[in-house]
Amino acid sequence: MDMPLSRRDFIKMAAAVFGACVSAKATGGVAEAAQIGTPVIMYHTTAYGITSEIFVDQMKALYRMDCKTIGFEELYDSLKKRLNLPYGRVVLTFDDIGNQLAKSGLQKTHDDFWENIYPVLNKYGFKGVLGVVTGGISNEGWTWDEIRRLADEGHEIASHSATHNLGMNQAYLNRPGGFSREQFIDEFRRSRYDIQNNTGRAPITYIWPFGAVKYGSDAAEIYPVRVTVWETGPVSGLSQLGSVPRYHPDGHVNDFGITIARALGFGGPTATQLEKSTGDTDTYTEKNRNYGVGFNSEALRARHAEKFRDVET
Ligand SMILES: [Zn+2]
Repeated sequence: MDMPLSRRDFIKMAAAVFGACVSAKATGGVAEAAQIGTPVIMYHTTAYGITSEIFVDQMKALYRMDCKTIGFEELYDSLKKRLNLPYGRVVLTFDDIGNQLAKSGLQKTHDDFWENIYPVLNKYGFKGVLGVVTGGISNEGWTWDEIRRLADEGHEIASHSATHNLGMNQAYLNRPGGFSREQFIDEFRRSRYDIQNNTGRAPITYIWPFGAVKYGSDAAEIYPVRVTVWETGPVSGLSQLGSVPRYHPDGHVNDFGITIARALGFGGPTATQLEKSTGDTDTYTEKNRNYGVGFNSEALRARHAEKFRDVET
């Protein structure tokens, strides 16, 4: 039998509900990442477009904005179930782990990761998505023991192909020397099994080397991944996960904090947000407002749309 609440109990209940709302607001728990977008940020080494100092600043900015890192599995699941991610979730990707063909600035991924990236991630409790070129592991300072350790610590191990061969890019651009369909699919197959055999977990994410999306639907059909990654920007819907947009926070972009703050749903930068995120109110300019546009042009999008079927459909 229901009893009406006593006045005293009603006040107690109202106070509890009100208190919960206040604390949710205080921790930023009300933002809906599924609607406003989860920033996916693309790194290689700290010698690729940024410096180790800039990387530290950017991680500090995320920490000050109360950001927490997630992997593509959590992002995928939350979007699939239409769950709202808590405020401030970001994905940090690190490409070219073990890439032997990388240009000079990219070569020392092993030492750079352990010296300049890993300690900083640990300091702020962040985890990364590591884009591993599986054929280069054991050849460039990296060992599978290290990759397994990182997986066990909660970093996501994504496939970034088996060889990172330029032939993938040539094929994508329809130039001589391009990979065949079979060679392309083999990059998917080999890297996937290498990761599965060496870490005990199949990757759910494939990061296109060079952004070269060619025979994408064929490969993803035969060797399924949930997420394929190549662009720039935030992710705000499941349909985007066939071509995950990413931000490329290289040296010429000096409004990192603002870019991420916008992606997290702040309408525009206030002086306080600027100061909080970058420590410098002069860094924001109208020019950088649409940061990422160069990587995310309409032409590129259109070309991509033709060539790659969304993994969800
Ligand atoms: Zn790469």
